[in-house]
Amino acid sequence: MSKASPLRVSEQARRGCGAHTLRAPPALTPCASNDILSIHNSLRLRPPTAIRAMRRVYLDNNATTPVAPEVLEAILPFFAQEYGNASSIHGFGQKCRAAVEQARDQLAELLGARAAEIVFTSGGTESNNQAIFGVVNAAPGPRKHIVTTTVEHSAVLNPCQELERRGVEVTYVATSREGRVNPEAIRQAVRAETVLISVMMANNEIGTLQPVEAIATMAAEKGIAFHVDAVQAAGKIPVDVKRIGAPLVSISGHKLYAPKGVGALYVRDGTHLDALLFGGQHGRDGRPGTENVPGIVGLGKAAEIARRSLAEETPRIAALRDRFERGVLAAVPLVRVNGCCAPRSPNTSNLVFPHVEAEALVISLDLQGIACSAGAACSSGTVEPSHVLTAIGLGRADARASVRFSLGRFTSAQEIDYALDVIPRAVQRLRSLSPTWRDAVVA
Ligand code: PLP
Repeated sequence: MSKASPLRVSEQARRGCGAHTLRAPPALTPCASNDILSIHNSLRLRPPTAIRAMRRVYLDNNATTPVAPEVLEAILPFFAQEYGNASSIHGFGQKCRAAVEQARDQLAELLGARAAEIVFTSGGTESNNQAIFGVVNAAPGPRKHIVTTTVEHSAVLNPCQELERRGVEVTYVATSREGRVNPEAIRQAVRAETVLISVMMANNEIGTLQPVEAIATMAAEKGIAFHVDAVQAAGKIPVDVKRIGAPLVSISGHKLYAPKGVGALYVRDGTHLDALLFGGQHGRDGRPGTENVPGIVGLGKAAEIARRSLAEETPRIAALRDRFERGVLAAVPLVRVNGCCAPRSPNTSNLVFPHVEAEALVISLDLQGIACSAGAACSSGTVEPSHVLTAIGLGRADARASVRFSLGRFTSAQEIDYALDVIPRAVQRLRSLSPTWRDAVVA
């Protein structure tokens, strides 16, 4: 590993790694039967034919974004022409090394970081795991404690739960009804043995932005490592690591128009972090494994585009989202916006449609070409309300009636108008079948 590498392999981690086996995460993982095609199949529809013939409006950009055309163009040569291993010393390899380092510069520029502080990973999940396990494993002492929140993504909650099984204590700080955590509550949760605070920047389900700068200031005063999961923020709002003040920031390519399977962790110079992965061919940043050159090139290009376009795109998408919410609220009785009064990421709208099953609405809209997602995940064969929605105090019924619409760079005003035409009729139809709606209307 190079001397400048942000990842450090400690003796403790070296010894621990032999016994480490990979297990499936125990909770918060969507199961196959929640997959939209499974639902279509169970309804005996033929989705490929149906979907091909209709207008398609993609309002699920928090799940993933399409690869931007400029990104695709930048990536393509690295599959079949420039296919060298970036660690090889010959010309094929060096061309790829140069491309990887250019991408590192591009991402560093988006984040206001130094190139040497960027570790490329396989995505947001690995970045979060690397930050969390990396800090905890590197911390000395028999007692270790983490502070996080109840509304984090499962890529933070599940590593924390795994660490609890290994004897680490974790405090999950509750949020307001808007999903916003109070920095004072984080301060009060901190103990002498706290080694890490992990708080997301933008919530993936309701879009609420957290006061990460205030938390970073407090963490720095107390000398505690602070990790920010900025997976849903990067490319949507400015993510400047110096302004945030956190030493660890996670990014995922497929949320900002780069391919799936690539991400990055910003590791501020001087941050002590044990390695998560062990293998050969360590890249310049200390992460082992042959670098995913096309993915990294794509992430670099996507970062460059985000840096150029953010000032124009953020208000455009916010205006579309606001128009969408105003339209739905005006046309559909009883609808409420989850997280409405908190600062929110500009693209996310999570709406409660009382007396409607969110999954039924998602399917109904999908049959009319509109892609969105239900705030519920299938766990142990039953549809469980989202942990984020229950954490912000929604009852089971409201959580199961919540649908997330997430706009993106390619969302147009015409698409929003189409959605505003379709959604009220779909809700009305589903409510007409709902016994609770009939009772509510009669009462
Ligand atoms: N963190 C947040 C807030 C996310 O929304 C996601 C994915 O949805 C992740 C982490 C995981 O990222 P990835 O899909 O790249 O593993």
